[in-house]
Amino acid sequence: MEIVFLGTAGTVPTETRNHPALVIDYLNEPFLFDCGEGTQRQIRLAKINPMRINHIFITHFHADHILGLGGLIRSIDFMGRENELNIYAPPGFDRILENLISIGAYRPNRFGINVRKAGEGVILEGENYKVTCTQTDHTGVRSVAYCFSENDKRTFLKQKALSLGVPEGRLFSKLQKGNPVEIEIKDKNKILKKIISPDDVLSDPVPGRKVIYTGDTKPCENVIKIAKNCDVLIHDSTFSEEQGEVVDDMGHSTAKQAAVVAKSANAGSLYLMHISQRYTEPEKLVKEARAVFEKSYIANDFMRVKVGKHW
Ligand SMILES: [Zn+2]
Ligand SMILES: [Zn+2]
Repeated sequence: MEIVFLGTAGTVPTETRNHPALVIDYLNEPFLFDCGEGTQRQIRLAKINPMRINHIFITHFHADHILGLGGLIRSIDFMGRENELNIYAPPGFDRILENLISIGAYRPNRFGINVRKAGEGVILEGENYKVTCTQTDHTGVRSVAYCFSENDKRTFLKQKALSLGVPEGRLFSKLQKGNPVEIEIKDKNKILKKIISPDDVLSDPVPGRKVIYTGDTKPCENVIKIAKNCDVLIHDSTFSEEQGEVVDDMGHSTAKQAAVVAKSANAGSLYLMHISQRYTEPEKLVKEARAVFEKSYIANDFMRVKVGKHW
C-alpha cells in the first residue's frame, strides 16, 4: 500500500503545492481522493495511469477539492475509456457533477458515471479492503473523512490442523475460507466423526493496514473514532496556532490540533495537508505538531509514503 500525494495546498495553490488530491495505491489499483484543479496533470507527473482509476472519493464540494473532475473525466473519455467510473461524495453531488461535465463544447459520453452517496459507514467493499466514511466538521457544507482499510487476516495453522487429524488437501482450503469440516478419526475399532471449526486452526485476526484522509475539518470526535489505531492519518493542517481564533471560524485545523487528534487516535504517523500559502517554510507546522505527536510530517506534492504490511 502506498500513498501518493498529488496536491497538498489549501485553497490557493503555490509554486510547489497543487490543490488537494491524493492516491492510495493498493495492490496496483489507484484510488483517488479529492480532485482539485489540475489534478489530472499531477496524476500524469506522478506516472499514474488515469485510465486505471475506477473509484474517486470527494470529501466535500468546495472548489479546491472538485474542480479537477471535469477535465479528468474529459481526458479519460478522449483516451477511450469504456469502464464505468464510481464517484463517492456527500449527498447532492449529482447536480454539481452535471455542471462540471457540461461546461465546454464537448460532453464526455463514452462511459457511465455512478455517483454514490457518502454519508456514514461502509461505502465500498473489495475482496481485501473496504472504504468507510464519517461526517466531519467543516463550514456550511457537508463533509466527510474517508478510511481505507485492509481486511483483517487470520493465518492458517497447518501443524495444528494436522495434529487434529485433518488430512491435507481439500479440507484445508475449506477451513482457510472459514468453513467448518467433518473428519473421521479411527479410535481402536470404531470410527468417530468430529467437526473441526475454523477457529481451531486459524490464528487470532491480525488487523490490516488503515489510512485516513480527513479533507477539510476542525478537530472532531468522528475522526478520532474512525482513525483509531490507524497506520497513517492525513489531516487538515491549514494553519498554525499563531492564527488563533480565525481557524475555528474557517472550519479548519492547526498543526497542533491535527497532532492532538493523531495522538488521541493512537495513529502510527500523521501527515499534515491542506497547507495555507502563507507557510512558505512549513517546518514550523511540523515543529508545532511534533511537540504533541512525534511522528508528524508535512505532506508535499509527489511525496510517496509506503504503508508496510502487518503480516
Ligand atoms: Zn479545501
Ligand atoms: Zn473546504
